[in-house]
Amino acid sequence: MAVTQGHGNPKWGRDEVLLALDLYLTLGDTIPGPSDNRVVALSEELRKLPIHADAKKNDRFRNAAGVAFKLQNIHQVATGKGLDNFSSTDKAVWEDFGHKPDLVRQLATQIRAQAGDASVAAEAATAEDDEEFSEGRVLTAAHKVRERSPALRRKVLKARRAIGPLVCECCARPPLTADASIAEAEFECHHKLPLSQTNATKTKASDVALLCASCHRLIHRLMQTRRGWASVEDLRAALCQAT
Ligand SMILES: [Zn+2]
Ligand SMILES: [Zn+2]
Repeated sequence: MAVTQGHGNPKWGRDEVLLALDLYLTLGDTIPGPSDNRVVALSEELRKLPIHADAKKNDRFRNAAGVAFKLQNIHQVATGKGLDNFSSTDKAVWEDFGHKPDLVRQLATQIRAQAGDASVAAEAATAEDDEEFSEGRVLTAAHKVRERSPALRRKVLKARRAIGPLVCECCARPPLTADASIAEAEFECHHKLPLSQTNATKTKASDVALLCASCHRLIHRLMQTRRGWASVEDLRAALCQAT
């Protein structure tokens, strides 16, 4: 269930703040009001984003006035001036991306492109808040949908079997069972690079690592807690610290 603000609308998610930040970073000193064409266009786009599924029925959901207000919030965080009525998400997104306009543009382009994919939209609409990467819910959903592709999985398992027994590429653990038909279920594909960096429309077998289900879960959690991408090597280092 989405957390709501006083007027009944859900709180802005990272995807939404990123798209607003993308517009903010193109502005000069003047923050446009609700009648500005760019604000109206962003409002329409946010209303179509596949998150907060229920809220779209509300006319006030991400209307132009709300978008103009969000731009003011971002301006407050960016300049340290004005009322402190920005959210913790506004602050976190600014800290993560405020000084990286090129990356923000890249992420915004990817969010827009992936949001139109029906499987990604379905995954994003039902995802839990605590599963979201710093790039937001849409790109997290796209990452997961692609990793679960049966065709990709088949290709990766076949390629790995061709070079030796299956082992987790992070913890190096072999399967718990020698029964090959069951052992495969222990392994999952995981992108080695964020989708925003590869820009590819299709995931190749060489784009992913084969991880045991535990390591895959842990690497996703690591990315969430550090609010940034974590490599397989990063997780391996974290696992070594625990032993
Ligand atoms: Zn593992
Ligand atoms: Zn993954």
